[in-house]
Amino acid sequence: MTWLQRFAVGCAVLGIAPLATGQENPRALAREIYSDLVGIQSTASHGGSAEIAKYAARRLVEAGFSEQDVQVVGPNPAAVGVLARFRGRGEREPVLVLAHLDVVEALPEHWSTPPFELVEKDGFFYGRGTADNKAGAAALLANFIRLKREGFEPSRDFILMLTGDEETDMNSAAYFANEKRDLIDAAFAFNTDGGMVESSNGKPLAFVVQAAEKVYLTMRLEVTNSGGHSSRPRADNAIYELAEALLRLRAHQFPVSLNDATRNYFDQAAQFYEPEMAAAMRALAEGRASETDIARLDSSVQLRTLMRTTCVATQLEAGHAENALPQMAAATVNCRILPQESPDEIVATVRRVLANDAVRVTVPYAAIASPPTPLTPDAMAPVRKIAAEVFPGVPVFAEMGAGATDALYLRNVGIRTYGVSGLAEETDDIRHHGRDERVRVEAFYDCVEFWYRLLRAL
Ligand SMILES: [Zn+2]
Repeated sequence: MTWLQRFAVGCAVLGIAPLATGQENPRALAREIYSDLVGIQSTASHGGSAEIAKYAARRLVEAGFSEQDVQVVGPNPAAVGVLARFRGRGEREPVLVLAHLDVVEALPEHWSTPPFELVEKDGFFYGRGTADNKAGAAALLANFIRLKREGFEPSRDFILMLTGDEETDMNSAAYFANEKRDLIDAAFAFNTDGGMVESSNGKPLAFVVQAAEKVYLTMRLEVTNSGGHSSRPRADNAIYELAEALLRLRAHQFPVSLNDATRNYFDQAAQFYEPEMAAAMRALAEGRASETDIARLDSSVQLRTLMRTTCVATQLEAGHAENALPQMAAATVNCRILPQESPDEIVATVRRVLANDAVRVTVPYAAIASPPTPLTPDAMAPVRKIAAEVFPGVPVFAEMGAGATDALYLRNVGIRTYGVSGLAEETDDIRHHGRDERVRVEAFYDCVEFWYRLLRAL
Protein backbone atom coordinates (compact mmCIF):
# COMPACT_ATOMS: atom_id res chain seq x y z
CA MET A 1 0.00 0.00 0.00
CA THR A 2 2.87 2.33 -0.71
CA TRP A 3 0.65 4.85 -2.41
CA LEU A 4 -1.00 5.65 0.89
CA GLN A 5 2.28 6.10 2.70
CA ARG A 6 2.78 9.60 1.46
CA PHE A 7 1.39 10.91 4.71
CA ALA A 8 4.20 13.39 5.26
CA VAL A 9 3.58 15.25 2.03
CA GLY A 10 1.92 18.52 2.81
CA CYS A 11 1.27 20.22 -0.46
CA ALA A 12 -0.94 20.09 -3.52
CA VAL A 13 -2.44 21.79 -6.70
CA LEU A 14 -5.18 22.29 -9.65
CA GLY A 15 -6.70 21.87 -13.38
CA ILE A 16 -9.02 22.91 -16.39
CA ALA A 17 -11.53 21.60 -18.90
CA PRO A 18 -11.82 20.54 -22.46
CA LEU A 19 -13.66 23.14 -24.46
CA ALA A 20 -14.71 26.62 -23.60
CA THR A 21 -17.61 28.95 -23.28
CA GLY A 22 -15.45 32.01 -22.61
CA GLN A 23 -13.76 34.33 -25.03
CA GLU A 24 -10.81 32.02 -25.37
CA ASN A 25 -10.00 28.39 -24.90
CA PRO A 26 -9.85 27.89 -21.11
CA ARG A 27 -7.17 25.24 -21.44
CA ALA A 28 -4.95 27.70 -23.28
CA LEU A 29 -5.62 30.38 -20.68
CA ALA A 30 -4.81 28.05 -17.80
CA ARG A 31 -1.68 26.79 -19.47
CA GLU A 32 -0.46 30.31 -20.21
CA ILE A 33 -0.90 31.35 -16.57
CA TYR A 34 0.70 28.11 -15.33
CA SER A 35 3.64 28.69 -17.64
CA ASP A 36 4.03 32.31 -16.51
CA LEU A 37 3.86 31.35 -12.83
CA VAL A 38 6.47 28.59 -13.17
CA GLY A 39 8.61 30.99 -15.22
CA ILE A 40 8.82 33.53 -12.40
CA GLN A 41 11.44 32.32 -9.95
CA SER A 42 9.63 32.88 -6.66
CA THR A 43 12.25 31.36 -4.36
CA ALA A 44 13.45 32.98 -1.14
CA SER A 45 16.89 33.53 -2.72
CA HIS A 46 15.35 35.38 -5.66
CA GLY A 47 13.23 38.08 -4.03
CA GLY A 48 10.51 35.73 -2.85
CA SER A 49 7.01 36.54 -4.05
CA ALA A 50 7.51 40.23 -4.94
CA GLU A 51 7.42 39.78 -8.71
CA ILE A 52 4.96 36.90 -8.94
CA ALA A 53 2.38 38.60 -6.72
CA LYS A 54 2.41 41.65 -9.01
CA TYR A 55 1.96 39.38 -12.02
CA ALA A 56 -1.07 37.62 -10.48
CA ALA A 57 -2.67 40.92 -9.48
CA ARG A 58 -2.12 42.40 -12.94
CA ARG A 59 -3.84 39.44 -14.61
CA LEU A 60 -6.86 39.86 -12.37
CA VAL A 61 -7.14 43.61 -13.00
CA GLU A 62 -6.77 43.05 -16.76
CA ALA A 63 -9.62 40.53 -16.56
CA GLY A 64 -11.95 43.15 -15.11
CA PHE A 65 -11.49 43.02 -11.34
CA SER A 66 -11.46 46.51 -9.84
CA GLU A 67 -8.18 47.73 -8.37
CA GLN A 68 -9.83 48.06 -4.94
CA ASP A 69 -10.73 44.38 -5.07
CA VAL A 70 -7.17 43.24 -5.83
CA GLN A 71 -4.57 44.00 -3.17
CA VAL A 72 -0.90 43.13 -3.17
CA VAL A 73 -0.03 43.11 0.52
CA GLY A 74 2.17 41.32 3.00
CA PRO A 75 4.37 41.55 6.04
CA ASN A 76 7.49 42.38 3.99
CA PRO A 77 8.37 42.86 0.29
CA ALA A 78 9.60 39.28 -0.19
CA ALA A 79 6.46 37.78 1.31
CA VAL A 80 3.71 39.79 -0.31
CA GLY A 81 0.61 37.98 -1.41
CA VAL A 82 -2.55 38.77 -3.32
CA LEU A 83 -5.98 39.25 -1.81
CA ALA A 84 -8.72 39.46 -4.42
CA ARG A 85 -12.51 39.50 -4.14
CA PHE A 86 -14.91 38.16 -6.75
CA ARG A 87 -18.10 39.97 -5.81
CA GLY A 88 -21.31 37.98 -5.75
CA ARG A 89 -24.88 38.68 -4.73
CA GLY A 90 -24.09 38.36 -1.04
CA GLU A 91 -26.78 35.77 -0.40
CA ARG A 92 -24.42 33.65 1.64
CA GLU A 93 -21.15 34.08 3.48
CA PRO A 94 -18.04 34.26 1.27
CA VAL A 95 -15.82 31.29 0.49
CA LEU A 96 -12.04 31.69 0.68
CA VAL A 97 -9.76 29.83 -1.75
CA LEU A 98 -6.00 29.83 -1.43
CA ALA A 99 -2.66 28.77 -2.86
CA HIS A 100 0.93 29.81 -2.28
CA LEU A 101 3.04 31.56 -4.91
CA ASP A 102 6.51 30.81 -3.57
CA VAL A 103 8.50 27.67 -4.28
CA VAL A 104 11.43 25.78 -2.79
CA GLU A 105 14.87 26.43 -4.30
CA ALA A 106 15.95 24.33 -7.31
CA LEU A 107 19.48 23.90 -8.63
CA PRO A 108 19.45 23.77 -12.46
CA GLU A 109 22.45 21.42 -12.54
CA HIS A 110 20.41 18.79 -10.70
CA TRP A 111 17.46 18.97 -13.08
CA SER A 112 16.94 17.42 -16.48
CA THR A 113 14.86 20.46 -17.58
CA PRO A 114 15.32 24.14 -16.65
CA PRO A 115 13.48 24.30 -13.29
CA PHE A 116 12.05 27.79 -13.78
CA GLU A 117 10.46 27.04 -17.11
CA LEU A 118 7.29 25.06 -17.80
CA VAL A 119 8.37 22.19 -20.05
CA GLU A 120 5.89 19.71 -21.52
CA LYS A 121 7.55 16.36 -22.06
CA ASP A 122 6.31 12.76 -22.28
CA GLY A 123 2.83 13.66 -21.03
CA PHE A 124 4.06 15.66 -18.04
CA PHE A 125 4.56 19.32 -17.17
CA TYR A 126 8.00 19.75 -15.61
CA GLY A 127 9.18 22.70 -13.53
CA ARG A 128 9.63 23.85 -9.94
CA GLY A 129 6.21 24.39 -8.43
CA THR A 130 4.30 22.47 -11.12
CA ALA A 131 2.87 20.43 -8.25
CA ASP A 132 3.64 22.49 -5.16
CA ASN A 133 1.64 24.75 -5.53
CA LYS A 134 1.59 26.58 -8.83
CA ALA A 135 -0.94 24.25 -10.45
CA GLY A 136 -3.27 25.30 -7.64
CA ALA A 137 -2.44 28.96 -8.01
CA ALA A 138 -2.86 28.72 -11.79
CA ALA A 139 -6.20 26.92 -11.55
CA LEU A 140 -7.61 29.50 -9.15
CA LEU A 141 -6.29 32.47 -11.13
CA ALA A 142 -7.38 31.08 -14.50
CA ASN A 143 -10.87 30.31 -13.20
CA PHE A 144 -11.31 33.70 -11.52
CA ILE A 145 -10.41 35.24 -14.89
CA ARG A 146 -12.57 32.86 -16.90
CA LEU A 147 -15.62 33.29 -14.66
CA LYS A 148 -15.23 37.07 -14.70
CA ARG A 149 -15.04 37.10 -18.49
CA GLU A 150 -18.07 34.85 -18.72
CA GLY A 151 -20.01 37.37 -16.65
CA PHE A 152 -20.63 34.81 -13.94
CA GLU A 153 -22.31 36.25 -10.87
CA PRO A 154 -21.91 33.99 -7.84
CA SER A 155 -24.49 33.95 -5.06
CA ARG A 156 -21.69 34.71 -2.61
CA ASP A 157 -18.30 36.45 -2.74
CA PHE A 158 -15.21 34.38 -3.53
CA ILE A 159 -12.03 35.55 -1.87
CA LEU A 160 -8.73 34.55 -3.45
CA MET A 161 -5.71 34.50 -1.14
CA LEU A 162 -2.31 33.83 -2.69
CA THR A 163 0.42 33.75 -0.08
CA GLY A 164 4.11 34.57 -0.51
CA ASP A 165 6.25 32.47 1.82
CA GLU A 166 4.53 29.21 2.68
CA GLU A 167 7.71 27.22 2.09
CA THR A 168 9.79 29.24 4.54
CA ASP A 169 8.36 31.42 7.31
CA MET A 170 4.61 31.45 6.61
CA ASN A 171 4.63 35.12 7.62
CA SER A 172 2.35 35.87 4.71
CA ALA A 173 -0.45 33.58 5.88
CA ALA A 174 0.02 34.76 9.46
CA TYR A 175 -0.26 38.35 8.24
CA PHE A 176 -3.48 37.72 6.33
CA ALA A 177 -4.99 35.80 9.24
CA ASN A 178 -4.01 38.28 11.93
CA GLU A 179 -3.89 41.66 10.16
CA LYS A 180 -6.48 41.22 7.39
CA ARG A 181 -8.93 39.03 9.25
CA ASP A 182 -11.93 41.15 8.21
CA LEU A 183 -10.99 40.88 4.51
CA ILE A 184 -10.66 37.08 4.55
CA ASP A 185 -13.66 36.36 6.73
CA ALA A 186 -15.46 33.43 5.14
CA ALA A 187 -17.82 30.57 5.91
CA PHE A 188 -14.91 28.26 5.19
CA ALA A 189 -11.74 28.01 3.11
CA PHE A 190 -10.40 25.63 0.48
CA ASN A 191 -6.61 25.32 0.41
CA THR A 192 -5.21 23.94 -2.86
CA ASP A 193 -1.94 23.23 -1.03
CA GLY A 194 -3.57 20.43 1.00
CA GLY A 195 -5.19 17.16 0.14
CA MET A 196 -4.53 15.31 -3.10
CA VAL A 197 -6.06 13.11 -5.72
CA GLU A 198 -3.97 10.03 -5.05
CA SER A 199 -3.20 8.24 -8.30
CA SER A 200 -1.24 5.35 -9.66
CA ASN A 201 -0.04 5.29 -13.29
CA GLY A 202 -2.39 8.13 -14.13
CA LYS A 203 -5.42 6.43 -12.60
CA PRO A 204 -7.06 8.37 -9.72
CA LEU A 205 -7.66 6.15 -6.67
CA ALA A 206 -8.74 8.47 -3.87
CA PHE A 207 -9.78 12.10 -3.54
CA VAL A 208 -8.31 13.12 -0.21
CA VAL A 209 -9.39 16.24 1.69
CA GLN A 210 -7.00 17.51 4.34
CA ALA A 211 -9.18 18.50 7.31
CA ALA A 212 -6.62 18.67 10.12
CA GLU A 213 -2.91 19.12 10.72
CA LYS A 214 -0.88 17.94 13.66
CA VAL A 215 0.48 20.69 15.91
CA TYR A 216 4.25 21.15 16.05
CA LEU A 217 5.90 21.60 19.43
CA THR A 218 9.56 21.48 20.41
CA MET A 219 10.85 21.11 23.97
CA ARG A 220 14.31 21.38 25.47
CA LEU A 221 15.23 19.03 28.30
CA GLU A 222 18.22 20.09 30.36
CA VAL A 223 20.08 18.71 33.35
CA THR A 224 22.85 20.69 35.06
CA ASN A 225 25.42 19.44 37.53
CA SER A 226 28.35 20.82 39.49
CA GLY A 227 30.66 18.54 37.48
CA GLY A 228 34.15 17.61 38.60
CA HIS A 229 37.11 15.46 37.64
CA SER A 230 36.30 12.35 35.59
CA SER A 231 38.64 10.30 37.79
CA ARG A 232 36.14 10.75 40.65
CA PRO A 233 32.69 9.74 39.27
CA ARG A 234 29.69 10.24 41.56
CA ALA A 235 26.15 8.88 41.56
CA ASP A 236 24.78 12.16 40.23
CA ASN A 237 25.68 12.70 36.57
CA ALA A 238 23.93 15.00 34.10
CA ILE A 239 24.33 12.63 31.12
CA TYR A 240 23.00 9.58 32.94
CA GLU A 241 20.08 11.50 34.40
CA LEU A 242 19.11 12.84 31.04
CA ALA A 243 19.55 9.45 29.35
CA GLU A 244 17.37 7.70 31.90
CA ALA A 245 14.67 10.33 31.52
CA LEU A 246 14.76 9.97 27.72
CA LEU A 247 14.35 6.21 27.98
CA ARG A 248 11.22 6.75 30.08
CA LEU A 249 9.92 9.07 27.38
CA ARG A 250 10.69 6.47 24.71
CA ALA A 251 8.61 3.90 26.58
CA HIS A 252 5.62 6.22 26.89
CA GLN A 253 2.66 5.88 24.51
CA PHE A 254 0.34 8.84 24.24
CA PRO A 255 -3.31 7.78 24.20
CA VAL A 256 -5.29 6.98 21.07
CA SER A 257 -7.62 9.79 20.02
CA LEU A 258 -9.54 10.52 16.80
CA ASN A 259 -10.99 13.64 15.22
CA ASP A 260 -13.46 13.96 12.31
CA ALA A 261 -10.66 13.76 9.73
CA THR A 262 -8.90 10.73 11.13
CA ARG A 263 -12.13 8.88 11.94
CA ASN A 264 -13.18 9.33 8.33
CA TYR A 265 -9.73 8.32 7.13
CA PHE A 266 -9.61 5.08 9.15
CA ASP A 267 -13.07 4.17 7.90
CA GLN A 268 -12.64 5.05 4.21
CA ALA A 269 -8.95 4.33 3.60
CA ALA A 270 -9.43 0.83 5.06
CA GLN A 271 -10.48 -0.40 1.60
CA PHE A 272 -6.88 0.06 0.43
CA TYR A 273 -5.32 -2.09 3.17
CA GLU A 274 -5.01 -5.85 3.69
CA PRO A 275 -8.09 -7.44 5.33
CA GLU A 276 -6.74 -7.69 8.89
CA MET A 277 -5.47 -4.12 8.99
CA ALA A 278 -8.65 -2.92 7.28
CA ALA A 279 -10.78 -4.61 9.95
CA ALA A 280 -8.72 -2.96 12.70
CA MET A 281 -9.07 0.44 10.99
CA ARG A 282 -12.85 0.12 10.73
CA ALA A 283 -13.09 -1.07 14.31
CA LEU A 284 -11.15 2.00 15.46
CA ALA A 285 -13.34 4.35 13.42
CA GLU A 286 -16.44 2.77 14.94
CA GLY A 287 -15.11 3.00 18.50
CA ARG A 288 -14.90 -0.78 19.06
CA ALA A 289 -11.20 -1.48 18.57
CA SER A 290 -9.78 -4.29 20.73
CA GLU A 291 -6.28 -4.30 22.19
CA THR A 292 -5.26 -6.59 19.34
CA ASP A 293 -6.63 -4.09 16.82
CA ILE A 294 -4.72 -1.23 18.45
CA ALA A 295 -1.50 -3.26 18.50
CA ARG A 296 -1.94 -4.01 14.81
CA LEU A 297 -2.53 -0.33 14.00
CA ASP A 298 0.49 0.64 16.11
CA SER A 299 2.68 -1.62 13.96
CA SER A 300 2.22 0.85 11.09
CA VAL A 301 4.15 4.09 11.61
CA GLN A 302 1.72 5.89 9.31
CA LEU A 303 -1.39 4.78 11.19
CA ARG A 304 0.14 5.16 14.64
CA THR A 305 0.98 8.80 13.97
CA LEU A 306 -2.62 9.43 12.90
CA MET A 307 -4.08 8.17 16.16
CA ARG A 308 -1.52 9.29 18.75
CA THR A 309 0.50 12.34 19.70
CA THR A 310 4.21 11.54 19.34
CA CYS A 311 7.26 13.03 21.05
CA VAL A 312 10.74 11.94 20.02
CA ALA A 313 14.32 12.92 20.93
CA THR A 314 15.98 14.57 17.95
CA GLN A 315 19.15 16.31 19.23
CA LEU A 316 21.64 15.99 22.08
CA GLU A 317 24.40 18.10 23.56
CA ALA A 318 26.40 17.39 26.70
CA GLY A 319 29.76 17.74 28.44
CA HIS A 320 32.65 20.09 27.84
CA ALA A 321 35.79 17.89 28.08
CA GLU A 322 36.56 14.21 27.79
CA ASN A 323 38.13 14.16 31.26
CA ALA A 324 35.45 16.16 33.10
CA LEU A 325 32.11 15.18 34.61
CA PRO A 326 29.37 16.84 32.56
CA GLN A 327 28.06 20.12 33.93
CA MET A 328 25.23 20.10 31.43
CA ALA A 329 23.32 17.64 29.29
CA ALA A 330 20.45 18.68 27.05
CA ALA A 331 18.13 17.09 24.52
CA THR A 332 15.68 18.43 22.00
CA VAL A 333 12.36 16.63 21.88
CA ASN A 334 10.03 17.26 18.96
CA CYS A 335 6.34 16.54 19.39
CA ARG A 336 3.58 16.26 16.81
CA ILE A 337 0.42 16.79 18.78
CA LEU A 338 -3.04 15.68 17.74
CA PRO A 339 -4.85 18.95 17.01
CA GLN A 340 -7.73 18.12 19.37
CA GLU A 341 -5.27 17.92 22.30
CA SER A 342 -3.79 20.72 24.39
CA PRO A 343 -0.05 21.45 23.95
CA ASP A 344 0.15 22.56 27.61
CA GLU A 345 -1.17 19.19 28.71
CA ILE A 346 1.35 17.39 26.51
CA VAL A 347 4.18 19.36 28.17
CA ALA A 348 2.76 18.44 31.58
CA THR A 349 2.58 14.79 30.55
CA VAL A 350 6.19 14.82 29.36
CA ARG A 351 7.32 16.30 32.69
CA ARG A 352 5.45 13.58 34.54
CA VAL A 353 6.87 10.83 32.31
CA LEU A 354 10.47 12.05 32.74
CA ALA A 355 9.91 11.55 36.48
CA ASN A 356 12.87 13.63 37.55
CA ASP A 357 12.58 17.23 38.71
CA ALA A 358 16.27 17.71 37.93
CA VAL A 359 15.35 17.56 34.21
CA ARG A 360 14.25 21.09 33.37
CA VAL A 361 11.72 21.20 30.53
CA THR A 362 11.34 24.41 28.54
CA VAL A 363 9.39 25.30 25.40
CA PRO A 364 11.49 27.66 23.26
CA TYR A 365 8.55 28.96 21.25
CA ALA A 366 4.85 28.47 21.66
CA ALA A 367 2.91 25.95 19.61
CA ILE A 368 0.32 27.39 17.23
CA ALA A 369 -3.00 25.69 17.78
CA SER A 370 -4.78 24.39 14.68
CA PRO A 371 -8.17 22.96 15.61
CA PRO A 372 -9.38 20.16 13.32
CA THR A 373 -11.95 21.17 10.74
CA PRO A 374 -15.32 19.41 11.06
CA LEU A 375 -16.53 17.60 7.93
CA THR A 376 -19.70 19.67 7.54
CA PRO A 377 -21.94 19.35 4.47
CA ASP A 378 -21.77 23.03 3.41
CA ALA A 379 -18.18 22.43 2.28
CA MET A 380 -18.03 18.67 1.82
CA ALA A 381 -21.21 18.21 -0.27
CA PRO A 382 -20.06 20.38 -3.20
CA VAL A 383 -16.60 18.82 -3.08
CA ARG A 384 -18.09 15.31 -3.19
CA LYS A 385 -20.45 16.27 -6.03
CA ILE A 386 -17.79 17.82 -8.26
CA ALA A 387 -15.18 15.19 -7.41
CA ALA A 388 -17.68 12.55 -8.59
CA GLU A 389 -18.11 14.41 -11.87
CA VAL A 390 -14.43 14.98 -12.62
CA PHE A 391 -13.06 11.78 -11.02
CA PRO A 392 -15.96 9.31 -11.37
CA GLY A 393 -16.01 6.36 -9.00
CA VAL A 394 -13.16 7.68 -6.85
CA PRO A 395 -13.87 7.68 -3.09
CA VAL A 396 -13.64 11.03 -1.26
CA PHE A 397 -12.28 10.98 2.24
CA ALA A 398 -10.51 13.11 4.82
CA GLU A 399 -6.99 12.99 6.18
CA MET A 400 -4.85 14.71 8.78
CA GLY A 401 -1.53 16.15 7.64
CA ALA A 402 1.69 15.59 9.55
CA GLY A 403 3.20 18.89 8.45
CA ALA A 404 1.85 22.42 8.50
CA THR A 405 0.59 24.52 5.59
CA ASP A 406 -0.89 28.03 5.47
CA ALA A 407 -4.11 26.39 6.71
CA LEU A 408 -2.54 26.46 10.18
CA TYR A 409 -3.06 30.22 10.48
CA LEU A 410 -6.60 30.13 9.12
CA ARG A 411 -7.65 27.35 11.48
CA ASN A 412 -5.93 29.23 14.28
CA VAL A 413 -8.22 32.25 13.76
CA GLY A 414 -11.32 30.10 13.49
CA ILE A 415 -11.76 29.70 9.73
CA ARG A 416 -12.69 26.12 8.86
CA THR A 417 -10.15 25.09 6.24
CA TYR A 418 -10.27 22.12 3.89
CA GLY A 419 -7.21 21.07 1.92
CA VAL A 420 -8.67 20.36 -1.51
CA SER A 421 -6.28 20.22 -4.44
CA GLY A 422 -8.16 18.53 -7.28
CA LEU A 423 -4.76 17.61 -8.67
CA ALA A 424 -4.02 13.97 -9.41
CA GLU A 425 -0.51 13.05 -8.29
CA GLU A 426 1.40 9.80 -8.43
CA THR A 427 1.63 8.81 -4.78
CA ASP A 428 4.69 6.64 -5.25
CA ASP A 429 6.51 9.42 -7.11
CA ILE A 430 5.96 12.67 -5.21
CA ARG A 431 8.61 15.19 -6.23
CA HIS A 432 7.55 18.23 -4.21
CA HIS A 433 10.69 20.12 -3.11
CA GLY A 434 12.80 17.61 -5.09
CA ARG A 435 14.32 17.43 -8.54
CA ASP A 436 12.34 17.18 -11.79
CA GLU A 437 9.07 18.12 -10.10
CA ARG A 438 6.23 17.31 -12.49
CA VAL A 439 2.50 16.89 -13.00
CA ARG A 440 0.67 14.88 -15.66
CA VAL A 441 -0.63 17.17 -18.38
CA GLU A 442 -4.14 15.78 -18.15
CA ALA A 443 -4.03 15.97 -14.35
CA PHE A 444 -3.40 19.70 -14.60
CA TYR A 445 -6.33 20.25 -16.95
CA ASP A 446 -8.60 18.06 -14.80
CA CYS A 447 -7.60 20.18 -11.83
CA VAL A 448 -8.53 23.38 -13.66
CA GLU A 449 -11.86 21.83 -14.64
CA PHE A 450 -12.46 20.68 -11.10
CA TRP A 451 -12.05 24.23 -9.77
CA TYR A 452 -14.19 25.73 -12.50
CA ARG A 453 -17.04 23.42 -11.58
CA LEU A 454 -16.50 23.72 -7.83
CA LEU A 455 -16.53 27.52 -7.88
CA ARG A 456 -19.72 27.49 -9.94
CA ALA A 457 -21.28 24.95 -7.57
CA LEU A 458 -20.50 27.10 -4.55
ZN1 LIG B 1 3.07 23.80 -0.86
